[in-house]
Amino acid sequence: MALKDFKGNENIVERMIRSVRNRSISHAYLLEGDRSVDKLGLAESFVKAILCKEGNGDCCDSCTTCRKISHGNHEDLIYLEADGSSIKDEAIEELQGRIKKKPYDGERNIVILKDADTMTLRAQNRLLKTLEEPTPGTVIILLSENTENLAQTILSRCVIFKLKTFETQEYKNVLEGAILIAGMLLEGRPFYEISGKLSEFTANRNLAHELLDAMETWYRDLAIYRYDSKLQLIVHKDKMDEIRDKSRLCPASLVEKAVGALEEARSDLNRNLNVSYTLKNMILKITL
Ligand SMILES: [Zn+2]
Repeated sequence: MALKDFKGNENIVERMIRSVRNRSISHAYLLEGDRSVDKLGLAESFVKAILCKEGNGDCCDSCTTCRKISHGNHEDLIYLEADGSSIKDEAIEELQGRIKKKPYDGERNIVILKDADTMTLRAQNRLLKTLEEPTPGTVIILLSENTENLAQTILSRCVIFKLKTFETQEYKNVLEGAILIAGMLLEGRPFYEISGKLSEFTANRNLAHELLDAMETWYRDLAIYRYDSKLQLIVHKDKMDEIRDKSRLCPASLVEKAVGALEEARSDLNRNLNVSYTLKNMILKITL
């Protein structure tokens, strides 16, 4: 499957495509999401997009490289998963040996590390060395259901993609908050009012990340409404009336500014900056 064919998590898919197109591939990614999200499928499509020479950001899904990945026999794509209940130190040691070797086909060795949260502490410490001094060209994609078991030092060296299941009540609540905040920004409401609403999302870093993702998806829908006449790419199709109304009022420059501020806030959160400070700072950047 190509990246663009993924349903849901459009903002993450877009970020992946953008990074391939801009050739700004990081050496480590973490895809986090529960069992209902196809993390492996998304990771494989991302690998295709990175290695495919025919695509522009996304993969062609039909060249030799893409087909080899679909069939699970690409020489430079290495899979690692739990042996029993965990990924052990020895497995990471073996992996390190593998990625030191020159890739067969192109310039990159890519690793998909399934069940990353089952790594033993020793395995994590060993992997950390690779993340700290990455072999040029190597990309490691960690898949995880729950990052609580992963050391902060590992997390801080990965680009983190938190994948959503859209149906959960929790997501609906976050989305409602995001829409409200975006609406307040649009109406030019005073900072203290907006930051009052924001404070509902500063309890922990995860929640703040979810708010950023929801806001980005919302702004994206407002932008898409303008130029996608078939409206196929709209994520929140159940809110079409609201999207139409808000899209008319929301200038493209505001969407652009907001998406930029959201990206910066996301990276601030990943750098462990204070959650409340980060979110307020983001609001200021959008309103300036
Ligand atoms: Zn291809």
